[in-house]
Amino acid sequence: MRYISTRARSDGTADSSNRTFSEILLGGLASDGGLYLPETYPHIGKSELAQWRTLSYADLAGAVLARFIDDIPSDDLQALIHRTYTAAIYCNGRDRSAASEITPLRWLEPPAREGGEGGLAILELSNGPTLAFKDMAMQLLGNLFEYVLANRGEEINILGATSGDTGSSAEYAMRGKRGVHVFMLSPHQRMSAFQRAQMYSLQEANIYNIAVRGMFDDAQDIVKAVSNDHAFKARYRIGAVNSINWARVAAQVVYYFKGYFAATGGVGGNDEQQVAFAVPSGNFGNICAGHIARMMGLPIGRLVLATNENDVLDEFFRSGVYRPRATSETAATSSPSMDISKASNFERFVFDLVGRDPELIRRLWSKVEAGGSFDLSSHPCFARLPDFGFVSGRSTHADRLATIRRTHDRYGLMIDPHTADGLKVGNEWRTPEMPMVVLETALPAKFEETIVEALGCKPERPTAMQGIEELPQRVEVMDVSVQQVQRFIAQHVP
Ligand SMILES: *Cc1c(COP(=O)(O)O)cnc(C)c1O
Repeated sequence: MRYISTRARSDGTADSSNRTFSEILLGGLASDGGLYLPETYPHIGKSELAQWRTLSYADLAGAVLARFIDDIPSDDLQALIHRTYTAAIYCNGRDRSAASEITPLRWLEPPAREGGEGGLAILELSNGPTLAFKDMAMQLLGNLFEYVLANRGEEINILGATSGDTGSSAEYAMRGKRGVHVFMLSPHQRMSAFQRAQMYSLQEANIYNIAVRGMFDDAQDIVKAVSNDHAFKARYRIGAVNSINWARVAAQVVYYFKGYFAATGGVGGNDEQQVAFAVPSGNFGNICAGHIARMMGLPIGRLVLATNENDVLDEFFRSGVYRPRATSETAATSSPSMDISKASNFERFVFDLVGRDPELIRRLWSKVEAGGSFDLSSHPCFARLPDFGFVSGRSTHADRLATIRRTHDRYGLMIDPHTADGLKVGNEWRTPEMPMVVLETALPAKFEETIVEALGCKPERPTAMQGIEELPQRVEVMDVSVQQVQRFIAQHVP
């Protein structure tokens, strides 16, 4: 399997084409500014699909990921995957007895057996160590990084900025990993007490928390400035684990297969049945994996993209106009992990939509990167959008509260604000002929305030997280200063 950049020059001379998986694992963007994708998507035939239906999560992940990773010896890869997807790691959810399924499917409304309604289900993706779906991919990334670095005798220093979910997921995945150090910037006193405790209570020597006296954007700007300091970046081997990382997308492809099999009758089920997935979206990473699963031949009838008030993606799927917002135009909402102004993985999908034309992608993103927008409504590809299964919708604070309330009243289930956005929009696109699977992206315990606002009571916390606010914390508080952060890294890199 070879990887190409969405912006590769077609004469084949670019170093951004013809890469192996391990070569692109530790990097971020391709050198031409594009994103990596497989040269072609592996196709999964009907007989293979029937075989995969019977596999455990880890075995399924092994089968799917082997199609994307062919430069790690098979035994090593399979062992690493089996160490990642274990019941012991994915046991933080509501129903511990289902932990061995890793991503259990919960029917809210079971499908009618003969004709009738298509059914409505939630695919639980948040039973990992930080109670958010990002663990599904990040845990794998931690093990892949450690493996590839050890083989090469290299080390990496991961620098990132977080407003909550990504940082904790990355730290829990990288804690104690050989060859990896994490420097995570977060906005001082702007995260919830729970989020702070989750990150700052980690005591592993390879994890450094830096709280900057500013906003998330200030932290993000420092990361960008350090990454643009090429000498510093090379000298201190600075890397990232952000959502454009290809391995994260690849790992997420697996649970679309798992969710599909569960929603269509499990072992002995029906491989012809189409299934719809509703996906609470921000940077387009999660739903991009759904697009890829569909391109591989999984019968996904519909991909329902849900946004919150920050609806740049909903706008595109309705109008063909992609208009990234300025940070000042980005609202702080009660589903904060979807508060994005531009969707960093979106370029991957548009590349496929326009027939994999890197020349056109370069033109479109030169407009975006100059602060502008583009309009595909009159391009022939826009008429082909239904062939890709995408539809979209948006959800507001009031929708979120109403959905959390209704789900609790009707089904006795507490859901988090992001999952509520997915459920609200998913419901709007339900049809009798296919089950609708809503992807759960976090547990309600992470967003206590909004749950209290909706239901008047606090969500339950998994046992492992009880009282974490009381644990000792390790964090370095700093001004918004690139130099200070660089000095800190220089002092702590061995
Ligand atoms: C990251 C995140 C999202 C958005 O996922 P993308 O892959 O960026 O589209 C949604 N919900 C939660 C809880 C998240 O942490």
